[in-house]
Amino acid sequence: MTALAIHGGKKTFSDGFTLAAYPTVYPATAQKLSDLYLNTRAWSYYGEYERKFSAEFAAYHNSNFGVLMVNGTVTLECSLAALGIGSGDEVIVPAYTWMATAMAVRYVGATPVFVDCQADTFCMEPAAFEAAITPSTKAVIPVHLFGSIADIDTICEIAREKGIAVIEDCAHAHGGKWNGKGVGSFAAIGSFSFQQSKIMTAGEGGLCITSDEKLFESLCRLKHIGNALGSRQRQPTTPPPQGLVCHNYRATEFQALILQSQLEHLQQETELREKGAEFLRQGFESLPGLKVQARGHKATKQSYYVYAVTVDPSYLKPGITRDDIIAALQAEGVPEVFPGWCAPVYKHKLWNVEPEKYRVHSCAVSEEIIEHRVILFSLMWLMAPRDDQEKLFECMKKVMKELGK
Ligand SMILES: *Cc1c(COP(=O)(O)O)cnc(C)c1O
Repeated sequence: MTALAIHGGKKTFSDGFTLAAYPTVYPATAQKLSDLYLNTRAWSYYGEYERKFSAEFAAYHNSNFGVLMVNGTVTLECSLAALGIGSGDEVIVPAYTWMATAMAVRYVGATPVFVDCQADTFCMEPAAFEAAITPSTKAVIPVHLFGSIADIDTICEIAREKGIAVIEDCAHAHGGKWNGKGVGSFAAIGSFSFQQSKIMTAGEGGLCITSDEKLFESLCRLKHIGNALGSRQRQPTTPPPQGLVCHNYRATEFQALILQSQLEHLQQETELREKGAEFLRQGFESLPGLKVQARGHKATKQSYYVYAVTVDPSYLKPGITRDDIIAALQAEGVPEVFPGWCAPVYKHKLWNVEPEKYRVHSCAVSEEIIEHRVILFSLMWLMAPRDDQEKLFECMKKVMKELGK
């Protein structure tokens, strides 16, 4: 075998890769955007596209109601507020997630309590959640990390027994199904993000789904300065309940229109990503020391977001680390490969919460995965042409042969 590019050898594929740009754009959608801009001039306040998209997105995930907002952080914040969670309350969150899951808890004045993940799915370990419960615990926010699905049945059952509210953070899992039922529909509220990097995106955006009419009413008021659903601009009907601190988190018709078009392609694109993921899994797992993040244990449709592969350090030559594997892949010309968010939330560079305002239970599994094992590939790889996926596998094989034991 020839030397690795990182050691001065020739790149295996000197003509590179042809990853398609993401998100996919559709000319028919561009035409509708143009019409909306030029002809309707109705760009906000529960317009036609917002109503259609919110309802259809909720229905796709087996929920009754959807509330569109500006991003997937305020959807979490409003979910907590709608459930009456605030100062003095504890909310259990996974250590392995994006900061927003924990920051939303701080924004409502409550205390995030970090717990560990499962070694195979990287999602919240139900036993760790149960062990962290105290009399102050009011909610738990499992995250369907990278599209894998947390053990949502078990988490909901523990929560029900203890009288704890569940919010599903579905920012990575649009269109995912657990036992045939949409993610976000198991908890009181499911929260989605449509930020630039996500599976569905309008640049920014977020949405809450729920089947509880009371929560739906509160979420509508929370995002629209206290207005009830359907109250006309400058003609409020009834006031919001006392103590419900409402804000302006309205999104626009432009966002709803773009998202509606993506929803119409979601099933087809999810299935394409699933096929790509399974193809790569077969290749990677044939190499000693590599393992792909497990699918949700009862996932009947997994909406892969980031593709996560772990390397077992004991299979590497002495002194070689996960970061060397990534650097070697990049030197071979592999784009869109990176380490796993560098740190658990409470060790992240941007995490500046005072130590007395959060708690960390043992998160040894999350720390080991994030700091030493995980290699992430962005979702473009899952939608890439098969011959690019084959080339990626060849690069990985070459790198593991040289740097593995
Ligand atoms: C992206 C993300 C969010 C928040 O979404 P924004 O729209 O960026 O505010 C929440 N939770 C997780 C796990 C995320 O990855």
